[in-house]
Amino acid sequence: MTRIVLFVFLPLLLGAAAVENLKWSTGETYLMFLERLQLPKDLYYKIDKEDQKLTEEIISGVEYQILYDGNRTIEQVLIPVNDELQLHLYRDKKGSFAFEAIPIISNTKRESIALNIEKNPYEDILKATGSRRLAQAFVNSFKNSLNFRRDLRKGDPLVMIYDQKYRLGKPFSMPVLQVAMIEMRKKRHYVFLNSDGRYYDENGAQVEGFLLARPVRNARISSKFTKRRYHPILKRYRAHLGIDYAARRGTPIMAAGSGKIIFAGRTRGYGNLIKIRHSDGYMTLYAHQKSFKRGIRKGKYVKQGQVIGYVGTTGLSTGPHLHFGLYKNGRAINPARVVRVTTKKLSGKKRRAFLKVKKELTALVDETMQTAGSPVKHDRFESVCYVDIQDFKRLGGEG
Ligand SMILES: [Zn+2]
Repeated sequence: MTRIVLFVFLPLLLGAAAVENLKWSTGETYLMFLERLQLPKDLYYKIDKEDQKLTEEIISGVEYQILYDGNRTIEQVLIPVNDELQLHLYRDKKGSFAFEAIPIISNTKRESIALNIEKNPYEDILKATGSRRLAQAFVNSFKNSLNFRRDLRKGDPLVMIYDQKYRLGKPFSMPVLQVAMIEMRKKRHYVFLNSDGRYYDENGAQVEGFLLARPVRNARISSKFTKRRYHPILKRYRAHLGIDYAARRGTPIMAAGSGKIIFAGRTRGYGNLIKIRHSDGYMTLYAHQKSFKRGIRKGKYVKQGQVIGYVGTTGLSTGPHLHFGLYKNGRAINPARVVRVTTKKLSGKKRRAFLKVKKELTALVDETMQTAGSPVKHDRFESVCYVDIQDFKRLGGEG
């Protein structure tokens, strides 16, 4: 309890203990960071493999915090690795530094926008909410199916319902679109987020899928994607920012989508690694490879399905597998959400489940059109995570 009081009042009384907000520099690795701040290298070498890999997920530009004591000595550091998990470096009871991954606490609000077109969806949503992200999310949903410029008229209604994360009262991380609707020439067009995590139009056709269902044949999924998971036995938080495909050593790895190779080389955690940049801000990552296919190098363009390398167990790996990651605008997302479904149309049980989601979301759109107030303004829409002083308190108090 004393410590909590101190954390709150010391900065005010002495102007000494302080939390500093910083941005992670481009190109700086976690090890370079430890060195620069003269923090013990054990904070990398003595932590387990999974945690070591997590340190490679730090995104340049991410906002992180350092808590100093009155003598300008580092007490704690908090570095977000995604919107649910952060790395915490702190002094334990003996005064030496320790590492842990801890959750980022946030709450999610469902928000909606309903308006009539004045200029175009992008400009109008931006004007109403102040958020380019929301405007872009709406436009992207229909970009392969509709022609706004040709078919849209002034006064046509649009609705967008999305989930937004908040931390300390400020929105952060990407909004998750639940449903988007636009009416043109008296016909309504929809995009729905289905319970399988994928987007479909009103006919049940998948909207966004572009990735190969599997980048390796004859493989089984040995680890799924998770932004944050509590390991009950180890009693600690974990994240797995990709999908692991266990396969025989030497099994060919295929490019999940067409694009340009932006990295092909060796890294500590991911071993032999290839990164491919695709359109619309997507990037795929293929780790732990035994070797690359001949001629595959940085700068080369590859086609979807083209072999780029072979399954191995290089880097921090426990057996032959492909760690497959998908990133959108630098952030890890679940690849399962963007794979191309093999069957064009949903059928049977899956179709019935979709129809239920569609019915609920359509009703929500109707309701929003009836009752819509002014949309929530996102004047300062942040992609970074805010550290709550609560985190420092809790952690400092419990050691
Ligand atoms: Zn993995």
